[in-house]
Amino acid sequence: MAPEEVKVNGVWAEAELEKVAMGGRLRWREKNGKNADRSLNLAREVLGLRREGNKVKIDAILDKEDKVRCGSGVARGGEKALLRKEVVLEAASEPAAEAWREEIQACIDSLGRPKRLFILVNPFGGKREALRIFMNEVKPLLDAAGIYYLMKETQYRLHAQELVTKLDLKSYDGIVCVSGDGLLAEVLNGLLQREDWQEVIKTPLGIIPGGTGNGMSKSLLEDAGEKFSASNATLSIICGNTRKVDVSTLTQGDRKFFSVLMLAWGLIADVDIESEKYRWMGGIRINFYAFLRVFRLRKYQGRVHFVPAPGYESHGEPATTKIEPCEVKTNDSEGTRGYQGPTISFKSSDWRSIEGPFIFLWTHNVPWGSDVTIPAPDAKFSDGYIDVVIVKECAKPTLASLLANVSNGSHVKYPCAMYLKVKALQLEPGQRVNEPEKGGIIDVDGEVLARGSGTYLNGKSTDLMDYGTPIKVTVDQGLATVFAPIAATECKPSF
Ligand code: ADP
Ligand code: MG
Repeated sequence: MAPEEVKVNGVWAEAELEKVAMGGRLRWREKNGKNADRSLNLAREVLGLRREGNKVKIDAILDKEDKVRCGSGVARGGEKALLRKEVVLEAASEPAAEAWREEIQACIDSLGRPKRLFILVNPFGGKREALRIFMNEVKPLLDAAGIYYLMKETQYRLHAQELVTKLDLKSYDGIVCVSGDGLLAEVLNGLLQREDWQEVIKTPLGIIPGGTGNGMSKSLLEDAGEKFSASNATLSIICGNTRKVDVSTLTQGDRKFFSVLMLAWGLIADVDIESEKYRWMGGIRINFYAFLRVFRLRKYQGRVHFVPAPGYESHGEPATTKIEPCEVKTNDSEGTRGYQGPTISFKSSDWRSIEGPFIFLWTHNVPWGSDVTIPAPDAKFSDGYIDVVIVKECAKPTLASLLANVSNGSHVKYPCAMYLKVKALQLEPGQRVNEPEKGGIIDVDGEVLARGSGTYLNGKSTDLMDYGTPIKVTVDQGLATVFAPIAATECKPSF
C-alpha cells in the first residue's frame, strides 16, 4: 500500500502498510514532525481491529511506559503491566477506511493465528488461581483477538486426558492448558493414546502458567526473551507461532507414559513429592525439605544405562549387561492402538552404564523445571536428546550449595555433578543404601510414576509403573507442537 495521509490518534500523519515476513508493519510519520517515526508490528503488537465509519480502531498491546512489547515483556505482579491501547487511524472516507481495515486484516489473517481453541483450566493447580488467571488475564485477550474458545474446568485427575482422548479435533486449532506441567502431560498422553495420534499430535498445544511447576511455559517464554507471565503466554498463543518439542516415551513392559518435561529419581523426586506433607508451609516447603533431606541423606542402589549423544561418549563404562531393544509394536496390526514410541534401536555396543549408589538422577527435555529452577541449562526443545544430571557422591555442604544453584543453572558445573546428553536411557532403580527394605520415588512431570516400598503414600496410590523394574526412555525428535512466542529479536521497537 502506498503511503497515504491519514490521522493517527488525531494527528495528521503519512501512513503505510509494509508487508514483511511475519505479517507486516503499520508505519506512520506525523506531519508536525514532533515525534519520531512510529510503527506497529502486526504479528506481535496487534490483537485485532474494527472499522467504525471512517475510523479503523486497532487494539494494540503496549507495556506501561507506552512502548511496544518488543523485548520488554510483561512482568508479573506489578512491575510492568500489560497495557492495551487503541490506535485510531482516521481516513478521508469510509471506503478508504475499509480499504485500510481489509489490508491490515489480510496481513493478520496470513499469520495463521488460531481461530478456535479448546481450553482446559485446572482449578486445583498451584495456588488454586488458574480460574482467576483465566478470567482476568486470558479471556480479555482472547476476546479482543476474536478467538472462539470452549473452556472446561478439569474435575479430577486424568479428566483432561479423558476429554482429549474423545475430543473432535477438527473443530479446534489448538488445545490450551491453564495449569502446571501436569495437565500438559495429561493432554499429551491423551493425544498419543488415540488411534489417529499421527494426525492429532500435530495440534498445537498452548500452556498458560497456572500451576506450581510451569517449566514448559517458562522455557518457551525465556527462550524468546519474554518475561514469564500468563499474559505473555496468552499472547504467544494468539500470535499463532509454533515450534516443535521432543517427546520422551517411558516404557515398562507394555505400560507407557509420554513426557515433554522431566523425570527425577532419588533426592530430587523425594523432595518434590514428599514435601507435599509440608504444603501448609507454602512456597518454602521445597527448600525446607531439601535441606532436611540433604542432612539426612539417602542414597539409592541401581544402575543407569544410556546411549550417549555425540560428544558425551566418555561418560560411564561400556554396558556389560545386554539391554533389550525397546518393544515397538507396529501400530496397524490391532487397529485400535495409539503411539508406541519411536522406532529406533541401538546396538549393544552403543550403550554405556553407570553403577549406583546414586544421590539423584534428573532428566530434562527443556531447560526450565519451574519458573525459578533451570535444571538443564543446555537443553534444546527439539534436538532429539535428553539432558541428564547425575550426582553420585557429594559432601553434604557442597550438595546443599549445588541444590541452591539450580536456580541459576550453575549446579551442572559442580565437580560432583555429571551433566550429559543422551539419545536413550534405561533406569534400573534400586533400594536405599542402609535401608534395603525401602525404595524410592520416580517423578515424571511433577507426578509420581512409580514408588517403592516404604515411600510416601505407598500402597494408597495407583501408580502407572512398578518401582524396581527397568524403565526405558526413548525420544522422538520434535513429535509435539507447542505455541511459542515470536522471538523479541525478530522485531525492533519503534512505536
Ligand atoms: P501443579 O503444577 O500445581 O501441580 P498441574 O496442572 O500440574 O498443577 O496439576 C496437578 C495435577 O492436578 C494433575 O495431575 C491433574 O491431573 C490434577 N487435577 C486436575 N484437575 C483436578 C481437580 N479438579 N481436582 C484434583 N486434581 C486435579
Ligand atoms: Mg532435548
